[in-house]
Amino acid sequence: MSNLPSEPEFEQAYRELASTLENSTLFEKKPEYKRALQIAAIPERIIQFRVVWENDKNEVQVNRGYRVQYNSALGPYKGGLRLHPTVNLSILKFLGFEQIFKNALTGLNMGGGKGGADFDPKGKSDNEIRRFCYAFMKELSKHIGADTDVPAGDIGVGGREIGYMFGAYKSIRNQWEGILTGKGGNWGGSLIRPEATGYGLVYYVEHMIQYASGGKESFAGKRVAISGSGNVAQYAALKIIELGGTVISLSDSKGAIIATSEKGFTPEIIDVIADLKLNRKALSDLTSEYSSQFKYVEGARPWKHCGNVDVALPSATQNEVSADEAEALISQGAKFIAEGSNMGCTQEAIDIFEASRKEKKGSAIWYAPGKAANAGGVAVSGLEMAQNSQRLKWTSEEVDEKLKQIMKNCFENGLETAKEYVTPAEGEFPSLVAGSNIAGFKKVAQAM
Ligand code: GLU
Repeated sequence: MSNLPSEPEFEQAYRELASTLENSTLFEKKPEYKRALQIAAIPERIIQFRVVWENDKNEVQVNRGYRVQYNSALGPYKGGLRLHPTVNLSILKFLGFEQIFKNALTGLNMGGGKGGADFDPKGKSDNEIRRFCYAFMKELSKHIGADTDVPAGDIGVGGREIGYMFGAYKSIRNQWEGILTGKGGNWGGSLIRPEATGYGLVYYVEHMIQYASGGKESFAGKRVAISGSGNVAQYAALKIIELGGTVISLSDSKGAIIATSEKGFTPEIIDVIADLKLNRKALSDLTSEYSSQFKYVEGARPWKHCGNVDVALPSATQNEVSADEAEALISQGAKFIAEGSNMGCTQEAIDIFEASRKEKKGSAIWYAPGKAANAGGVAVSGLEMAQNSQRLKWTSEEVDEKLKQIMKNCFENGLETAKEYVTPAEGEFPSLVAGSNIAGFKKVAQAM
């Protein structure tokens, strides 16, 4: 699995995938796939480099940069860049590994990769971020290409950072190429890309709700707890409101805000939060004019504080739902958990959700892993690559329609694959985590 002393995040992601494959009939039917898993666990290539840049006081700064080119069996390496002080090789290997199978589930021809740096964008000026992005791209540009490796955003990398990096690539290489996705609309970005992960998550969960209720229910009238307040959380919240659901929480690394009024978050407040985030401010900076509508819980995630809830969408970062919080969500009435973040739930939390799915049958909690539920972001990245190759731009309606279809396929593929390889008991919902893992892995193993 790994020959390094300790890669906890990667080992967690590997075991999560491997255990579902081992507990299915996949290896009985395809014994050679056991070897394929061992091979797929090792990245094809890891690039590590030094990033030297100057801050606003003209002081020289240094960071560690990485790109993990994990698997290219299905297409060019594809996956985001994360800028966060916690970034290390274990985290990037877990993210890259997940990305391989997520990308396979989109049905598009994309391999898996991930990269980033231990740079902290918080507290930096725009100019410092631009200088960092230029220095980062100076090295990364040697290793990427429209048919080789196409990075995009992740935590700490949004449209602005992609813009700085894309501009850097053009000036370093004197070439316009679709080497990044999530670009601005005027220079090759796809419409709906900023919204895609959040919207896709909601489209996916809408299928879970419809399936579980025999087509009788939807997001309308549902109470939804969300963690995070970045791109994914914001657009998931907006789509839920549009579909008639109530959003009752958001959060950042310092604390959670819980709506105290029945109507929950409004699109206006989400706009205000989007602005705060763009200026790299914390949710605790929300001005007192909103204090009657929310309570702020310092140092906490929303799960134990959100009250009655139907749906929970962890959309901040990895391991943001513990065993205790999983129990709390169940006791507060949650029925659907889907990850907008990558590996949003700890293994202990997943085990609790999966046990509930088996024991309580129809009234159980139903859990969807990030590699299926949040695949909408990279799916629209794949659509951006297709538009760039054709030198064309599709309308929002066209992209949104394709996104909806991809999320539907993603849900149905996981569901049907689970029925085939882990045969649920009478009345039990199929395991979306097992089904999605097996479906994604099978496609990659076949290609390898
Ligand atoms: N960072 C996103 C993810 O985790 C998007 C990657 C991409 O668009 O390449 O899937």
